[in-house]
Amino acid sequence: MQPHAQQPMHTDVLVIGAGPAGLYQAFQLGLLGVSFEVVDALPMAGGQCAALYPDKPIYDIPGIPAINGQALTQQLLAQCSPFMRMLPGHSDLPHAPREHLHLGQVIDALQPPANAQDTFEITSTQGLTWRSRAVVIAGGVGAFVPREWPIPGVTNLHQLSNLHHHLPEASDTRAPPWAGQHLMVAGGGDEALTAVVQLANQPAPLAPAHITLVHRRHAFTATPELNEQVQTLMAQGRVTFVAGIPMAAQVTGERIEHITLTTAEGQPTTLHVDHLLVRLGLSPRMGPITQWGMAMERKQLLVNSSTMATSLPGAYAIGDICTYPGKLRLVACGFHEATLAAHACLAQLYPQACGPLQYTTSSEALLKRLGKA
Ligand SMILES: Cc1cc2nc3c(=O)[nH]c(=O)nc-3n(C[C@H](O)[C@H](O)[C@H](O)COP(=O)(O)OP(=O)(O)OC[C@H]3O[C@@H](n4cnc5c(N)ncnc54)[C@H](O)[C@@H]3O)c2cc1C
Repeated sequence: MQPHAQQPMHTDVLVIGAGPAGLYQAFQLGLLGVSFEVVDALPMAGGQCAALYPDKPIYDIPGIPAINGQALTQQLLAQCSPFMRMLPGHSDLPHAPREHLHLGQVIDALQPPANAQDTFEITSTQGLTWRSRAVVIAGGVGAFVPREWPIPGVTNLHQLSNLHHHLPEASDTRAPPWAGQHLMVAGGGDEALTAVVQLANQPAPLAPAHITLVHRRHAFTATPELNEQVQTLMAQGRVTFVAGIPMAAQVTGERIEHITLTTAEGQPTTLHVDHLLVRLGLSPRMGPITQWGMAMERKQLLVNSSTMATSLPGAYAIGDICTYPGKLRLVACGFHEATLAAHACLAQLYPQACGPLQYTTSSEALLKRLGKA
């Protein structure tokens, strides 16, 4: 359950970003007994791996010969589970609600502590607030935000309950909101056509009753294979295609009911929609992070490579968002950086707890935290 927007959540470390670096950061902090909360703009964990290439095999994760982006995310979440338990009644998926993980929250403001006893105050655009003694920024190339399909006159797009941007994960067997209803899909690239093919081919209880695909012109910009699959669905009457751009919509409360399009031929046409799925891609927004006053080099946060500390005391940066001499934007490097940042956070917050390095194979304290002793 999300706490009330007016009540800040208190924690030792706020981790911004639930990509591979942020998830491994959570594990390392948990291992050292440091409390944390992890926040991400996306509705699922995994960052670029889950959002940009969930099905592509990655061949350079240490100790794993090949794993795709989604499976890597699931493994990282499983590794974190002693410290980030899944809430009861959910299956083990990157979007399943977990303790200490806040998805769909874009961090836009960070107020540094006024003095050594004070805390950072971090707020999301969605209205949640956290107070923490340290912050680890694992923001990758920025907050992944879906590109919108602007509809003239509709100013509250982000409040519409039947407007969607993301597909359920392949292994999610729950009925999607559009099951058995009319779904309009907006877009003409790989993302939109993949969605159309995937949803049209779902079994009856999960599939939409009908799909209307809307793109501004007759030609798609997707791969020839996707193009062909969608043409087949159209020929079978399972998908209707309209070339046009939105010019108006009828919104009732939080639902979009009808969309009026100007077709490629210049004619207005009004369509009823039960659900609208906008698939125009994700665009990363560095926006707020660049305005927090930390030293940067070419849009990356400059860090001390032995602690991952930024120029702002108490703020650390790891993964693709940080830079230092020799930095490589690879998952393996993000894991190393998360380990160093966790130890630096421990030294900052609990200096009395720092001692000789402990191993998970032999340390009773670590095994206890992992629930293995
Ligand atoms: C097509 C492709 C293939 C790749 N293949 C490989 C490979 O084979 N091997 C390899 O090692 N690397 C590969 N990479 C690179 C790898 O994906 C990145 O190095 C890795 O994802 C970086 O992890 P990260 O956690 O630092 O950032 P990300 O994965 O980018 O995650 C950052 C997260 O932070 C969130 N975020 C950012 N700002 C905010 C904010 N203000 N509020 C809330 N949330 C925010 C974002 O939404 C995002 O989910 C590939 C990358 C691409 C694009």
